Amino acid sequence: MNEPAPKKPREEQRAFQQKWELEYFFFSTNGTSTCAVCGKVFQCARESNFKKHYQSHEGQTPSLQNLNSVARKNKFQELKTVQLHRIKNLQPENPRSDTNDDETVS
Ligand SMILES: [Zn+2]
Repeated sequence: MNEPAPKKPREEQRAFQQKWELEYFFFSTNGTSTCAVCGKVFQCARESNFKKHYQSHEGQTPSLQNLNSVARKNKFQELKTVQLHRIKNLQPENPRSDTNDDETVS
């Protein structure tokens, strides 16, 4: 009888950390992480990826620079709202129901 393979040690959990929201302008949704600046989706929550990605934005986006913590928070909320709205609109709604034209000829 075959014995079940020994349990693998639990893989390093890559859970999204809340602090990354303001640090890197990322937020977590549906198990993925989304850049609040450009809407790019990252499948795995890896801090180094977020950091690198964010830094490329910061270098090109003056409005992300020199923000105090309050302004930063407001900016993040603003961008996040836009992205969430966009994501929502991307999701397929009910397939277009073909209207049955049964014109009853009298
Ligand atoms: Zn981005």
